Amino acid sequence: MRALVFDSGIRLADVDEPRRGANDALLRVRLAGICNTDLEITRGYMDFRGTLGHELVADVLEADDDAWVGARVCAEINFACGECPSCEAGLGRHCPTRRVMGILGAPGCFAERVVVPQANLHRVPDHVRDEAAVFAEPLAAAFEVVEQVEPSIGERALVVGDGKLGLLCAMVLKSEGLATTLVGRHARKRAIAEASGVHAFAPELLQEGDFDLVVEATGQASGLSWSMERVRPRGTLALKSTFHGDLKLDTAKLVIDEITLLGSRCGSFERALAALSAGTVDPTPLIDAVHPLSDGVEAMARASAHGSLKHLLDARLEVGA
Ligand SMILES: [Zn+2]
Ligand SMILES: [Zn+2]
Repeated sequence: MRALVFDSGIRLADVDEPRRGANDALLRVRLAGICNTDLEITRGYMDFRGTLGHELVADVLEADDDAWVGARVCAEINFACGECPSCEAGLGRHCPTRRVMGILGAPGCFAERVVVPQANLHRVPDHVRDEAAVFAEPLAAAFEVVEQVEPSIGERALVVGDGKLGLLCAMVLKSEGLATTLVGRHARKRAIAEASGVHAFAPELLQEGDFDLVVEATGQASGLSWSMERVRPRGTLALKSTFHGDLKLDTAKLVIDEITLLGSRCGSFERALAALSAGTVDPTPLIDAVHPLSDGVEAMARASAHGSLKHLLDARLEVGA
């Protein structure tokens, strides 16, 4: 089958069919989303080699439980062992021996078919379109901030960065009833935030501030200190960016203002799919283009271009079809 593989470079390859083990499901991919993590991997992040991709909507071809066969699903990306103390405590996303789809020890979903643990499946409600459902994973990551901080309605939130994850975080915080501001450098992206009721500004227009919650999603090391200056005393600074490299951080303000610094990664698919189902968050304005999987090398180049948003791969389309 065809897959988009990263080894010495990115290439479309003919790879072996994935094998379904015990407790696994075999999926036929409909759409897959290109994420900044995929782009970071091609620059050396995680030392991953193999089929890329971890954001998908797919059909179940085979599973141990017949009730899943034929279902349209999204899948959680952390493949936990299910037996260690972390897993037994319900923290499979932090299982020390976990594999992660397309990121760590498991082939990804930029392919015609992919195998995931049956326990990772989430059924997509019928009325949620593929183009929205494919955002379940990054949207779950955006909801993780809310799960961790449990902010109150009306609190003031600032999202720093108008990339894909920043925009999704802003949409989620707004949908949860926070007075939400986003700063970013791109007028086109600020307009997407504004269309969902978020106040959006260019960074130079936002002076030091006193936000209850600041979410750093710039993907730039310099975004961290800039974000710190906008947190109120005893407020929270949540980090969504995964940097490939070292960070410099002035810890004086952190200590003096007793700021909580919070790392935030993957989140609850239930909340993400519930928001898509209810229509309280609509991520589809982030879609720049849908490419056939066979055009994946070009799609990755387009996705890494400055200012681009979400590029999707359609595993069912042929070039020129
Ligand atoms: Zn991702
Ligand atoms: Zn485990």
